[in-house]
Formats: sequence, C-alpha cells, structure tokens
Amino acid sequence: NLPVDNFFVDADFLAGRLPARSKFSHKGTFGHALLLAGSRGKIGAAVLASKACLRAGVGLLTVGVPAVGYGIVQTAVPEAMALTDPATDFVTELPDLKPYAAVGIGPGLGQEDATREVLRQLLRKATVPLVLDADALNLLGTNPDLLGLLPPDSLLTPHPKEFERLVGQPARDDYHRLEQLRAFAQQYRCYCVLKGAYTALATPDGTLYFNSTGNPGMATGGSGDVLTGVLLALRADKRLSPLDAALLGLYAHGRAGDLAARETGQAGLVAGDLADFIGRALQELT
Ligand code: AMP
Ligand code: MG
Repeated sequence: NLPVDNFFVDADFLAGRLPARSKFSHKGTFGHALLLAGSRGKIGAAVLASKACLRAGVGLLTVGVPAVGYGIVQTAVPEAMALTDPATDFVTELPDLKPYAAVGIGPGLGQEDATREVLRQLLRKATVPLVLDADALNLLGTNPDLLGLLPPDSLLTPHPKEFERLVGQPARDDYHRLEQLRAFAQQYRCYCVLKGAYTALATPDGTLYFNSTGNPGMATGGSGDVLTGVLLALRADKRLSPLDAALLGLYAHGRAGDLAARETGQAGLVAGDLADFIGRALQELT
C-alpha cells in the first residue's frame, strides 16, 4: 500500500477550485500584481506576460521595465501601469513593494549584475507571493547564495535547461529529473514547475502533479512568458491557495494552447495567441 503522491491534473481534478466572481467584487478583490521584466531587445517578453496576466483576471497590473521599454509597454498594453527604471537597457532598481499582492520576475530580464542585486533585494524584502521565471531562475542558478533567500511558497517555472542550472547538476534521465524536482521543492519549500509536455509541479511536501493540457504548437518563443503572467495573476488572487493557483494556471495555459491551435494549427500558433485564449480556458473551469 504505497502512499499516492502523484496526480494527473485534468478538468475533473480541478472542478470547484476556481471560485466564480462575486457580484460585488472590485479591482481590489483580485489583487494588484507587479511584474519586473524585459531588457533591450526583450521587451516583448514583458508585453506577453502582461497581456496574459490581465487575461487571467488580475485586478491591477504594474509593469517595471527599463526605460527602453516604457513606451512599448504603455502602447502595447494600455490596461497596465508602467514604472520606468532609471537605466535604459535593464532593470536596476527594486520598486517600493507596498502596493502589491504578488510579484513576478524574470521574462526577458537579462542577467546583469545590477539586475541580480534587484532580485536579491526582492527575495530579502518580499512578504507577498513570488513567481520566478527565465532569467530570474538563471540568476538563481549561477548565484547559489540567492537560493537560500527564496521565501517559502515561491513559485518557480523553469524549463529543463533552467532547472538544470538551478540544481547545478544534469539529470541522468527523466525519472532522475523528476526526483531532483521533488527534492528541490522540498529543500526550498517552494512550488517548482518543470515545463514541457505534461508539465510537472512539485510542492513543498514532495507531491508531484502532471498537467494534462497543451501541445507541441506551444514550443515557440514567448510561451513561457505567457505562463508567468497567468500564474502571477492567480497568485495575486487571495482567494486561491498556492497549490490551486499553480494547478489552475498550468492547466489554463495549456488549454489556451489547445484552443488556439484549433484556429491556427500547431505550427501557426504564436505566444500572443495563448494570451488571447486564457480567458476562455479559465471560463471552462468555473
Ligand atoms: P518556455 O520554454 O519558457 O518558453 O516555456 C514553454 C512553454 O510551452 C511551457 O509552458 C511548456 O510547458 C509549453 N510547451 C512547450 N512544448 C510543449 C509541448 N510539446 N507540449 C505541451 N506544452 C509545451
Ligand atoms: Mg521561458
């Protein structure tokens, strides 16, 4: 009688986990999120994550970008507020965290020394849920002293290469990688995703969840940035537990990919399509 510690996450598994919006809800009900993203040449990552965060139902979104990204974000995502960093090409300053219900960091961020110090300060100061992706993970992987600063219940979204940098050791095979994932989540008391087909989620208690949605059309630049935005919105929603936010976000992101691919075909799918279908994917779950 082995204890069950693996779950397959389909629509039935998620039934009842996404609360409906109360008639009397307002922006504050769904949280104000902060996204720190983008560097010269990668402001699109901030745009994609922002659109996805809004489509996933965040109450308010503020995006912190280097100066080069200010006009781009304000034009491409008028629903978001933008904070501009004093530096032109990459993020060098941590904004005041007081207004925010959750913080996402990483898409298109780059790995400059000054940006690493922003991440360090964020890890030290944050008292709200964090979502870490992309270059935020690469910075953690190359500066292991930062790993010890991860606040409990942080949500990390590496793809296999980023995960390998995080653990600092290549996996022998796919099973070993899942064992590494489980051990990592337990050691750092975090929720750690391993992206790909059947994306896995490991929780601080060592349970593994496998997502059922998604398709190879999502193997395209920017897909992961969309996931970061979705997860940030759900972590900013105080009605959701860290586990439910992660499971719902992973499922809805993949389901948006499946709905989009019906229209565009897998080859024709681009990451922005995922953002456009997030609302429909979430609606199916309510
Ligand atoms: P990234 O590599 O950061 O852009 O993230 C890629 C995103 O697309 C992740 O959410 C993956 O789970 C998803 N994805 C990529 N390839 C596949 C696939 N073959 N099947 C399902 N999802 C995929
Ligand atoms: Mg990525």
